[in-house]
Amino acid sequence: MNELKRTDPEIYRLILDESRYQLESVRLIPSENYCSKAVLEANGSVLTNKYSEGYPGRRYYEGQRYIDQIEALTAQRACALFGAEHANVQPYSGSPANLAVYVALLKPGDAIMGLALPHGGHLTHGWDVSITGMLYRPVRYTVDRESGRIDYNLVRELAKREKPRIIVAGATAYPRELDFKAFGEIAKEVDAYFLADIAHIAGLIVGGVHPSPLPFADVVTTTTHKTLRGPRGAMVMCRKALADQVDRAVFPGLQGGPHNHTTAAIGVALKEAGTPAFKDYARQVVVNAKALADKLLERGYTLVSGGTDNHLVLVDLTHKKVTGKQAAKALDRAGIVCNYNTIPYDPRKPFNPSGIRLGSPAVTSRGMGVAEMGRIGAWMDEVITHPDDEARLAKVAAEVREWCHGFPAPGILVEDEAS
Ligand SMILES: *Cc1c(COP(=O)(O)O)cnc(C)c1O
Repeated sequence: MNELKRTDPEIYRLILDESRYQLESVRLIPSENYCSKAVLEANGSVLTNKYSEGYPGRRYYEGQRYIDQIEALTAQRACALFGAEHANVQPYSGSPANLAVYVALLKPGDAIMGLALPHGGHLTHGWDVSITGMLYRPVRYTVDRESGRIDYNLVRELAKREKPRIIVAGATAYPRELDFKAFGEIAKEVDAYFLADIAHIAGLIVGGVHPSPLPFADVVTTTTHKTLRGPRGAMVMCRKALADQVDRAVFPGLQGGPHNHTTAAIGVALKEAGTPAFKDYARQVVVNAKALADKLLERGYTLVSGGTDNHLVLVDLTHKKVTGKQAAKALDRAGIVCNYNTIPYDPRKPFNPSGIRLGSPAVTSRGMGVAEMGRIGAWMDEVITHPDDEARLAKVAAEVREWCHGFPAPGILVEDEAS
């Protein structure tokens, strides 16, 4: 980053600081990862200079001889990897991708049925403060109070009563497998579209450790920067029959020119995700989440649903002396980064809820395994048990910093830091 250093030392310094922070902390935010150097290179390329409204072969700008090939190749890789008939790789991010699906398939006022936000759903599944909950009529299913899991009989009853135009399956804080087949059947029974939003679990699906919704869903959306380990972006996949509607909703319905540098970087990430090494990665993500969950259970913690099937652990701190926010803040001071999160039926308010949300994707990208999850769990317990003991937090932070240097972070060059 020599040129950046010369031109803008302030931004350069901040990026360097962030790199060091990412290298020297234990990053447990389940939607975050470390993408490869190859992805970063494509993402930082001259493709950002281009305008290319339209789609390959159907552009409103000349000069697309290479851009068309990049977008077509990326879409082709998405179809091959996920088993999709059509892929639109232009959405700027996950939220616009979901909105594009609603714009393509619904009329304002139609009902969207999704998992309630406090139960692990996403804002764009029809929550009030999101445009998706303002333009459309939200219908919300919840998880069972005892099991912490989705009860598919209740989902069916609600769908029959409310007649949604679309049913969304997908979550940001649901530690268990989703039964896409059941969602597909319920959607058919009530003549609704079925959207599977696999933003969090896309990498697990292509890695073969979570069932795929592709055989059952009308439309599948995903971000590309979570377990899929690509650049920040998103895709919409669907059957041929819906392709035109979806494409028109993305452009010109919602967006202008696609971010071609992102498209290329998504292409690289998809290539990486098709390798045997990525399958090993996905498998290890699940093994590690379970190991972290087991360590916390062993230390007396309560986990929503009692454990995990995927990359994510939701810790219920109601019976501890700290709130989710206090715990997350203390952990951050100790070099362990996670987020406070509502738990289903949370007695506390969303801005200071009873849970913390943990994930294994980023630490697994650094080559950490079961033994390391044990170490992290032990540190977490020490911090959560003594959240106000600043000397102890500083001691843990120093240990974490030193320890992290033993696990190279993809995309982060230590040489950069030294210069
Ligand atoms: C992250 C996420 C999104 C939104 O993605 P952004 O890129 O943050 O807009 C949508 N749906 C689910 C389930 C997600 O986890």
